[in-house]
Amino acid sequence: FKAKITEEVLSRTKFYKDFPRPGVSFMDLFSITQDPAYFRKVLDAFKHVIEFEIGRPGEAFNILVGLEARGFVLGPILALEWGLPFAAIRKSGKLPGETVKSSYEKEYGGDVVEIQKGILGPESKVLLIDDLLATGGTLNAAGELVRCCDGAKVAGSACVFEIEGLKGRQKLTMNIASVVMLRD
Ligand code: AMP
Repeated sequence: FKAKITEEVLSRTKFYKDFPRPGVSFMDLFSITQDPAYFRKVLDAFKHVIEFEIGRPGEAFNILVGLEARGFVLGPILALEWGLPFAAIRKSGKLPGETVKSSYEKEYGGDVVEIQKGILGPESKVLLIDDLLATGGTLNAAGELVRCCDGAKVAGSACVFEIEGLKGRQKLTMNIASVVMLRD
């Protein structure tokens, strides 16, 4: 199943060499959303691997939390289909009201991520959603933020793409479900 969908996704997803900087092959999620039938297929595969690797929606996890920015494209669709709530983790200064913050180190300096206060609590089992796993720094920062929220737990994470060579999976502090492994 995975081999078949991987081949199709790879043949139809546009990637941009040396964007946004030399050495990066940028996988463009928005080349998938151009074609509704194909987008549907990718979303169904995404749901399938999540249910297989993380567990049943509503049981293994009870809220989806999307990472800025492409986690905001994928997350709400799955949340609505599963009848679960969706919340956003954003870069510093973009969310209104009181927030919980967490800082982390990136390749060039630090960054801060935030979530609105009061959304997560002791009963929350969070599934983190993003488009792509590279080094794992972004998902780990999001996981740390969730764990700062009143006893909330990270049930796992999910991305459409995973760059195998960067070994993000080995560095992650949570389980990950991905549809397409990029062997680059
Ligand atoms: P990392 O923290 O290194 O795992 O990077 C993952 C984050 O950066 C995700 O939010 C991705 O959207 C973005 N990203 C990193 N590399 C790529 C890439 N090659 N193509 C598209 N997005 C990427």
